[in-house]
Amino acid sequence: MSNLVNIREVGLRDGLQLIKTNLSTELKLSWINKQVSAGFTEMEVTSFVPPKLLPQFSDATDIIIQSNKIKELKPTALVLNIKGAIRAIEAGAKKITFVLSASEKHNQSNVNCATDQSLSMFDEIIEISKDIKIEVAAAIATSFGCSIQGSVPEMRVLELAKEMAKMGASEINLADTVGYANPNQVKSLFSELKNQIGCTPMAAHFHDTRGMGLANVVAALQEGVRRFDATMAGLGGCPFAPGASGNIATEDCAYLLESLGFDTSVDFDKLLELRSYLSNLLPHEKLEGRLGFAGKAINFKNKLL
Ligand code: ZN
Repeated sequence: MSNLVNIREVGLRDGLQLIKTNLSTELKLSWINKQVSAGFTEMEVTSFVPPKLLPQFSDATDIIIQSNKIKELKPTALVLNIKGAIRAIEAGAKKITFVLSASEKHNQSNVNCATDQSLSMFDEIIEISKDIKIEVAAAIATSFGCSIQGSVPEMRVLELAKEMAKMGASEINLADTVGYANPNQVKSLFSELKNQIGCTPMAAHFHDTRGMGLANVVAALQEGVRRFDATMAGLGGCPFAPGASGNIATEDCAYLLESLGFDTSVDFDKLLELRSYLSNLLPHEKLEGRLGFAGKAINFKNKLL
């Protein structure tokens, strides 16, 4: 099993989705450049959703065009339907992540249609993207429970994952959108997921809503997950999870992984500089993440040193 772990920074999408501050395109690009110089090779830089609903992503096309110029980076974009996918493809996105919810009620609230309708859309997007050089990943929101519906059957998540892998998903990402997951549940679901999707890579998207985020990362690592989403300073949340704090903090996640002997290629000095930069950029936001407050332990050595 590989020791390499990829942390995908999703702060520019999941992080900026809910906060009050509206960053300019120029400031977003400055964040992207700093993150890349701290060793990151994949970032979800935007979301192709209707600009009327989320004006903070109205520069999505420009962000993709500019990010594509950074040669070390694979910029990715979130899409929820065919229209969004087409916009992302036209902008030149190298990877899109299509999201549907395992919870019917969440899917209705989020994208206004049944989960099976979203599944058909995914199939169509795969068809559209066949002759284009683009990766189409799949993310299953509310895989571990839903704040509207309550529990979400494991079987339903696995069925959707299997179906999307068969259709041609480049990755299956299980998301704990509302922060309901616990490590036993994570182990159980990823252990079964492996059997369902064969060699399609697994990814995990955890929120730290109830303090379980990093424990869930460890549980997923034990089941072979080597791709994790995280946001700088734990920015983010979910519109359907009242009071929810954000994603797991990128800096804490990287520190955990390196402490356990995994290789993230992250330069911690640059990462902590970026965190300070973001605290100036977002003075009205509550920043999370312990490493940003405490700094590295004096005997901490990561693989770069
Ligand atoms: Zn999220």
